Amino acid sequence: MLEIRLNCECCDKDLLPDSSDAMICTYECTFCKRCVENILENVCPNCGGGFTPRPIRPKTERCRGLSIEHQPASINRVRTKYTIEELKGFSEKIRHIEPEDR
Ligand SMILES: [Zn+2]
Ligand SMILES: [Zn+2]
Repeated sequence: MLEIRLNCECCDKDLLPDSSDAMICTYECTFCKRCVENILENVCPNCGGGFTPRPIRPKTERCRGLSIEHQPASINRVRTKYTIEELKGFSEKIRHIEPEDR
């Protein structure tokens, strides 16, 4: 099940479960759209993969036992260990390769 993280690893902006501003990689590394576009340039600093918008878990229990209330967001805020310069430097090496070719 997808771990819904509540902040951008880079700028620490809040990314509530219903935010359309959250982007994730396949390992659930979570960043805001602005950081993905302007700093990471679609390169995840933790795995080198690309990003996709995070799906929104439903608020309403339309299927039994399944909703954000039943499987809530993660309570741990994750922050990157890299500096902005390191993030940009990593992206610099990889961003020209399309995610499907990485
Ligand atoms: Zn951010
Ligand atoms: Zn990643």
